[in-house]
Amino acid sequence: MEMDMETNMEEPKATGRWMFFWVGFGALVWVALGCLVFGLAGCTYVSGAGVQESQAKVSFLDVGQGLAVLLEYEGRYALYDVGPDSVGVFDSLRARGVDTLEWVVASHYHRDHVGGLLELGAGPSKVSKPAVKRLYVGLDTAGGFIRDSLFRQARRFGIPVDTVFRGHEIVLQDKNGVADGLRLKVLWPPEFLPLGGNESSVVLECRLETSGSQVDDGGTLLLTGDIDTAAERRLLELSPSLRASLLQVPHHGSSGSNSLGFLSQVSPRYAAISVGKDNGYGHPTAEVLRKIEIVAGDSSTVFRTDLDGTISFQIVPGMGVVK
Ligand SMILES: [Zn+2]
Repeated sequence: MEMDMETNMEEPKATGRWMFFWVGFGALVWVALGCLVFGLAGCTYVSGAGVQESQAKVSFLDVGQGLAVLLEYEGRYALYDVGPDSVGVFDSLRARGVDTLEWVVASHYHRDHVGGLLELGAGPSKVSKPAVKRLYVGLDTAGGFIRDSLFRQARRFGIPVDTVFRGHEIVLQDKNGVADGLRLKVLWPPEFLPLGGNESSVVLECRLETSGSQVDDGGTLLLTGDIDTAAERRLLELSPSLRASLLQVPHHGSSGSNSLGFLSQVSPRYAAISVGKDNGYGHPTAEVLRKIEIVAGDSSTVFRTDLDGTISFQIVPGMGVVK
């Protein structure tokens, strides 16, 4: 009896312990499932951001008074302008492990934009220089010493040269050469228009396209070289709905460029100014900075290589340009 009593007494306790066990086990299962779901979501976000981060980048290299914009897509690189000399640009490329440029666009034949390419063969031969696969130039009818020197360099290093104008397109694709990549539309200069110097600068509208879809219908990046207000006005006549998330502020922020009408129409989220510290031209001018502030609403959207060093942006699918 005693035994039975004890057994009977024990039974409810044992049931209670099992209940606790199962409730506890169930809770653990739910916690584990929750962690898995949230963990995976977290992983997806992190790895997603990681993948996106490596897809497309735009960097305004700190090259002093001049311009050099490095474009990157899936481990392939290209340059829009090459800075005033080889030191700043090639050091910057070496630091990034860039040994090949798919192409280089020379916006126009001024030394602060193509000097780096003119010095491609200069300096100690031990110091590696990037291989340039192709050179794109615009329709600059003025010609001159720098253009001749640039063409001589292209011949010397076996770089094919293509002339581009409005209607042409340049792409930067990944190693597989599929349709995805950075697609750059040439908006300026138009064909059959005699232009020389700053006004002839090749203007490119750059978009990231992935799986046939454009990231941002309003345009992603606008590269303008040194176009002046007259070119800005005529460009808007040809492309009246031109907009960009990121604007390379024309001509280093000169007052001879950057009309309020142009800046208002483009309405950039970010404005990048490539300019040398304490340069003798007074670039960027207070007037232009004020205009950008008026258009953007505040000055936090302005980035300057003289103050910020090299400025990098990412182009993220579905989000456009992100600082
Ligand atoms: Zn310039």
